[in-house]
Amino acid sequence: MQIVHGKSGWLEVICGPMFSGKSEELIKRIRRAQIARRRVQIFKHGIDARYDATNIVSHSQQSLPGVAVTNAQDILNLVDDRTELVAIDEGQFFGDEIVDVVSKLANLGKRVVVAGLDLDYRGLPFGPMPLLMCRAEYVTKQLAICMTCGDPANFTQRLTRDTAQVVVGAAETYEARCRCHFEPPAED
Ligand code: ADP
Ligand code: ZN
Repeated sequence: MQIVHGKSGWLEVICGPMFSGKSEELIKRIRRAQIARRRVQIFKHGIDARYDATNIVSHSQQSLPGVAVTNAQDILNLVDDRTELVAIDEGQFFGDEIVDVVSKLANLGKRVVVAGLDLDYRGLPFGPMPLLMCRAEYVTKQLAICMTCGDPANFTQRLTRDTAQVVVGAAETYEARCRCHFEPPAED
């Protein structure tokens, strides 16, 4: 991804299923910005206390300290004027108001990177992610590895019978599956 720097800000979205390396990619972009001595603020949605409520953590155990928020407006309130990169993990859990929040930040000249699941456990678009993807200047779609056949995987298979859209969990609750091996839950 080649980014041409100008005066204006922009939005980057990193999407894909669970285990596709979204958090790793987000952490990599943050670390590189920190190496460039950019001022960075890191947020994630507070619903995911998978490992630590205030860190962004990848399944490969990389982590960076962040602030857990439950409301997109909190991000606007917490971002410092001098911040150059605003990184947001678990973007799918926010409401549609996240779209206005990140647009405002980009319009202020900031680089905004949002990582999130583009599809839920049913294989349907997740929360504000479709809107964020079409507003973004740069979209990176990642794939995981299908746990059944080893092919590239675009879907997140829920291994339990829960029917809530949000059920927080990792390897014991979800696995990545390709198009052939993804089994959407039966409609009730
Ligand atoms: P995401 O944020 O998309 O859930 P992470 O960045 O947290 O992904 O984790 C990616 C890491 O998960 C990979 O580098 C790999 O070590 C591990 N991993 C576990 N299962 C899989 C899988 N099925 N496909 C790819 N990576 C996997
Ligand atoms: Zn497969």
